[in-house]
Amino acid sequence: MINFELSPKIKNIRNLIHSLALNNLRPLSRQYDEEEHTKPADLIDMMHQLSRGGGISGVGKGRKEGPSDATLMNAVLAEELCWGDAGLTLLSLPGGGLGAAAIQATGTPEQKERFLKRFSEEKPTWGAMAITEPDAGSDTAAITTTATLDREKNEWVLNGEKIFVTSGKSALKDSKGFVVVWATVDKKQGGRE
Ligand SMILES: Cc1cc2nc3c(=O)[nH]c(=O)nc-3n(C[C@H](O)[C@H](O)[C@H](O)COP(=O)(O)OP(=O)(O)OC[C@H]3O[C@@H](n4cnc5c(N)ncnc54)[C@H](O)[C@@H]3O)c2cc1C
Repeated sequence: MINFELSPKIKNIRNLIHSLALNNLRPLSRQYDEEEHTKPADLIDMMHQLSRGGGISGVGKGRKEGPSDATLMNAVLAEELCWGDAGLTLLSLPGGGLGAAAIQATGTPEQKERFLKRFSEEKPTWGAMAITEPDAGSDTAAITTTATLDREKNEWVLNGEKIFVTSGKSALKDSKGFVVVWATVDKKQGGRE
């Protein structure tokens, strides 16, 4: 059972993040509401340095607390940062996002090492997850994107259209991140689960 009591350590971090949200996010809100296609470079760098140094939580950072503490810490962080500015937090800040969460949950040890290490490296890096399609939102069973293994090249070929991929551009164009793509595997052509 999850214990919802905040430990002294989480309370301290909550206070720190609250003050960061007050002083570093809220003053930028109006500007980035009006300039919605620009990115707050200084804020991104600061948050990345804090996150990679272990100052605030992130996926794949070798946390020492148990799962309950990690879950509570993430909830508190999301609450405080979104109090500062939900748009800047969810759409701008670097980190593994949903893409890294998927690999953390299902990846092999080798995949975790290969894909997640980059979030602790020097440059801000983004991960993303592409599920939604023009004709498939909540109903993920309706996804039509396919993944087919090209045996000669030993490569997976993706065919389909994705929309609303949060941080997709940041992951693939602005940094050396990645996008996890939801697709159906064509088993007849040599795919596997
Ligand atoms: C800020 C933001 C970030 C996002 N980031 C991502 C991302 O990173 N990656 C990604 O893949 N997608 C992302 N999305 C897309 C999001 O996941 C989809 O918008 C969501 O799944 C809903 O799909 P839809 O917009 O097609 O709406 P629909 O699925 O068409 O739903 C429309 C309405 O119908 C209702 N509805 C749907 N199905 C049922 C049902 N069976 N019974 C009753 N009511 C139903 C819904 O509640 C909703 O009110 C993001 C969206 C937003 C707003």
